[in-house]
Amino acid sequence: MSTPDLEKSIQYIKGVGPKRFQTLSKLGIHTPRELLYYFPRTYQDRSQIEKISELKKGVTSMVKGNVFNVKSYNTRGWRNIFEISVADDTGLLMVKWFNQPYLNDIFQMNDQVLLYGRVYVYKQNLQMVNPEYEIVSQDDGFGKSVGILPVYSLSEYFSQTRFRKLMKTVVDEQSGLIDDVFTADILKKRKLMSITSAIKNIHFPDSFKNLEKAQRRLKYDEFFIFETAMALRKRDIKQFNGYKFRIGPNVEDHIYKLFPFKLTNSQQNVIRDIQEDMCSERPMNRLLQGDVGSGKTAVAVYALLSAIANGFQTAFMAPTEILAEQHYRTLSAYLANADVRILLLTGGAKTKIRKENLERIKQGEIDLVIGTHALIERDVEFKKLGLVVIDEQHKFGVMQRTCLRQKSLRHKPDVLVMTATPIPRTLSLTVFGDLDISIIDELPPGRTPVKTYRVTPRKQRDAYSFIRKEIEKGRQAFVVYPLVEESEKLDLKSATEEVKRLKDEVFPELRVGLLHGQMKPEMKDKIMSEFINRKYDILVSTIVIEVGIDVPNATVMAIEHTERFGLAQLHQLRGRIGRSSYQSYCLLFGTPKSAESRQRLKTMLATNDGFKIAEEDLRLRGPGEFFGTRQHGLPEFKIGDIINDYAILKLARDDAFELVNESQKSKTSKKQILLKRITESFKDKLDLINTG
Ligand code: ADP
Ligand code: MG
Repeated sequence: MSTPDLEKSIQYIKGVGPKRFQTLSKLGIHTPRELLYYFPRTYQDRSQIEKISELKKGVTSMVKGNVFNVKSYNTRGWRNIFEISVADDTGLLMVKWFNQPYLNDIFQMNDQVLLYGRVYVYKQNLQMVNPEYEIVSQDDGFGKSVGILPVYSLSEYFSQTRFRKLMKTVVDEQSGLIDDVFTADILKKRKLMSITSAIKNIHFPDSFKNLEKAQRRLKYDEFFIFETAMALRKRDIKQFNGYKFRIGPNVEDHIYKLFPFKLTNSQQNVIRDIQEDMCSERPMNRLLQGDVGSGKTAVAVYALLSAIANGFQTAFMAPTEILAEQHYRTLSAYLANADVRILLLTGGAKTKIRKENLERIKQGEIDLVIGTHALIERDVEFKKLGLVVIDEQHKFGVMQRTCLRQKSLRHKPDVLVMTATPIPRTLSLTVFGDLDISIIDELPPGRTPVKTYRVTPRKQRDAYSFIRKEIEKGRQAFVVYPLVEESEKLDLKSATEEVKRLKDEVFPELRVGLLHGQMKPEMKDKIMSEFINRKYDILVSTIVIEVGIDVPNATVMAIEHTERFGLAQLHQLRGRIGRSSYQSYCLLFGTPKSAESRQRLKTMLATNDGFKIAEEDLRLRGPGEFFGTRQHGLPEFKIGDIINDYAILKLARDDAFELVNESQKSKTSKKQILLKRITESFKDKLDLINTG
């Protein structure tokens, strides 16, 4: 329930004139409520007033003293210098401000002042430059500057002191008006501070302990609202009608015959989950996690064929064209003996061909469409879309999933999202929080874990001889180069030059092939199949092989300039080898140039476990970067941090899901009423989460 006072325009607050009103608007603050929810960026500990004689050079400190020497003058370099001296019973401090001539009207002789700033020593005098100040003797609010003070992100038109003053007024007058959505028993159970105390203490904490409690409460709220949105979305999806597929023993036998291997237990378990979803009348909304090489594609094939056997069309989405092409090849191979009409639909296809293809999809002449996000463009219409498989690789957000789902009109198609890079648990509670989750946690039998070594510049020759030995044994090797800078041209140049060097100088007696991102798809195909057919011993390549080619005979992955690759990429690359019973080796060349790249290298040397690597990747880069550029679906939390506050996130999620589930049981229950209160109070926020 909103209280009028909290929602009225901030310009009615005393001290907010037109100019401040504008500045506040730019900060996104239009109402007292928004001001109260504008949390400090950090805090200053000003609980200690130091004696001037005890000040230490370089330490940020607070002193209290009397002003006795006031000077304002202009210099050539600086427009204006305002200077005062301040004394307490122990010593003397010089204070200077640059370019703030108006201070001359503010400070008076004998004023008692508080100063907070870094201590310098200049010509043997103790000094502060541009410190924060408060004139105590002129101000009846004595002591406001003492304690734990908030520091806000502000524009230069608003000083911390003035902003704090405004905040203090509004906190004192209005924080009591905020409605606590949670009842006292919930607060007690979760050991949460009341919302009013939390707002008071987040801005003006009376102790660090209370600050922490306030933060905990506000983080919980933020996560709780988000997770409520997730729980509601999950519930809502399940309320739609989906297709009820029939998957009998005949269909299954038929599918299993297509696999040249026996499915692992893990694959079978996941297939059970999927089968149950597909055969229910509710739409499937499942995330399939499994490390590189764990055999997710086979699982996808099972789902696709089941839907097709039921007379439906299916779509398979990949994040990039190269990946889409790769999936097209793999799936075509799996489906060589199945009666399935497959189409690769890429954004690049010529208009005329594309038009024809779109028409065929619309007429239902295609059973399986493989493509990139071009598939969710508006002009793609299906006749009867029953299942969508999304190979996510972190590249698709919630929004695209929703968009694709809307393609099929009367019923919602089943959606299976697959990720090759395992998703850290914090992300599976947030970005993927509306999905059911299945995990393949076992690799197909007969694999020997890859051994990973670092190759320092001194060891380069040894590494090359090692590669030669492997090739003499009949194996093959990848050598991968990073994109040098963003430019594709450079990428091509460096890889081409390197291939020349490797060919002519390092391995003159071996057959070296080159694969790079600028080749036409047919050319890439040709080179890849030549490599698979052992026409080359070594394939030098840019990142394009990260995704895709399956060459069990390749046992060496040499990565040049390892420091330029992200952890997820490195892990993906390493996943290209170790696909047979031969021992495989990953050789990491290059020199780490930052603490972060050292840490990445260390992680690669320490573990093969995709989950551990993903957690580390997320920790190193933060959630934004982890997803590449800014992507839809990644929630932005104001105060909560999904990594550091995992425990609170988990708690909030459990509570939110319990609330939504319980409230479904009875329309008049306490939970139902609470949920209603929450959805009403946070309607805007919930809508935002659901669309973005
Ligand atoms: P992912 O998509 O999870 O990276 P793939 O589906 O590409 O993994 O499978 C990796 C390799 O393992 C492929 O060569 C595939 O043919 C093979 N494979 C998959 N499942 C099995 C299995 N149950 N037994 C043996 N080999 C398998
Ligand atoms: Mg795969």
